[in-house]
Amino acid sequence: MSGRVESPPPKARRPDSTSPPVSTPAQAPAPAPASASSQQPEWKFNPDEYTVGWICALTTEYVAAKEFLDDKAVQPKYRSPNDNNAYALGTIAGHKVVIAVLPAGEYGTSTAASVARDMLRSFRNVRMGLMVGIGGGAPRAGHDIRLGDIVVSISRNGKPAVRQYDFGKAIQGREFQMTGNLNQPPVLLLAAVNDLEARFQSEDHGLQGAIDEVLKKKPKLASRYGKPAPGTDRLFKAHVTHDGEAGCRGAADCVGTPSSLRQRGEKGEHEESPAIHYGLVASANSLMKDALVRDRLAAAEGVLCFEMEAAGLMNHFPCLVVRGICDYSDSHKNKQWQGYAAMAAAAYARELLRRIPPSQVEAEKKILASSTSPSFRNGGEVRD
Ligand SMILES: [Zn+2]
Repeated sequence: MSGRVESPPPKARRPDSTSPPVSTPAQAPAPAPASASSQQPEWKFNPDEYTVGWICALTTEYVAAKEFLDDKAVQPKYRSPNDNNAYALGTIAGHKVVIAVLPAGEYGTSTAASVARDMLRSFRNVRMGLMVGIGGGAPRAGHDIRLGDIVVSISRNGKPAVRQYDFGKAIQGREFQMTGNLNQPPVLLLAAVNDLEARFQSEDHGLQGAIDEVLKKKPKLASRYGKPAPGTDRLFKAHVTHDGEAGCRGAADCVGTPSSLRQRGEKGEHEESPAIHYGLVASANSLMKDALVRDRLAAAEGVLCFEMEAAGLMNHFPCLVVRGICDYSDSHKNKQWQGYAAMAAAAYARELLRRIPPSQVEAEKKILASSTSPSFRNGGEVRD
């Protein structure tokens, strides 16, 4: 993800981490699910029943993701001894979903890869992956990305869905050349994205309503996960840096001046918020906080969003990347929109799963079996 504000030292607890999830009396008893299993007092599934793997990078994203489960399940008794992940388990539209979060304070493509590997050790039947969280937007002409909008990793106009922009060749006297190909998101998920995109052309997506519903049920989340005032969505001109002489002057809330901001029109009457954008997600191990580099990559490569995990997943844990936009990948990056952006991404991911019949997922290959990496396949041998 790209929502982190500064790089904390490795292993440091992230300041925005919330308390570990606990089962509070307010949550119990769980609402009865409207299915054949509704007689069960608690949802208990065998680890091998989970088919959808959902990965989050930050606690903020994990908190949001859990709120979009239809029903929560208890932790399975068995887990691989080498699996250090924290999990939330439950169902969405009949899919059994396992949600994992990266360890607090750790991030980057290799940490994401190791969380996915551990997940597949304990949940060997996962067939479909989602990386859901927040990221930095790269608005440009034709892509009016606003804070709280959603970017979905889709190959468009000959560009891939995900690219690692810090992996390539640096040759003296030439532009840095990105090399290496990452796999595409799973076809089943791409088809569902297309289906939803077509549907949302004529119908409201209702994502804001879904977020409002969660916040109504859990008022405690409202201050951190509700939508900030629209006036706080400010896109600075690329040359205006956070602590620069003119413009922002490093104010905590990045107020800026009219001349330091890029002027953008009001949203149209029929434009629903959050908007959904489809295209290239750029991934790297370093945090993007440079508006000039952002704009250059956006123009040259068609990048819509910057984040820090997807490139570690695509070849071993084929997934669709869904990112709520929480900042503009520039030096003004702050946390104000992170909670809402995480909610928007999770709301979209749930909507997507609702479009896919569970039987279709069960017909997919297991990720563990289809992974091209021997180290990933070995993860599955622990229990044999
Ligand atoms: Zn600023």
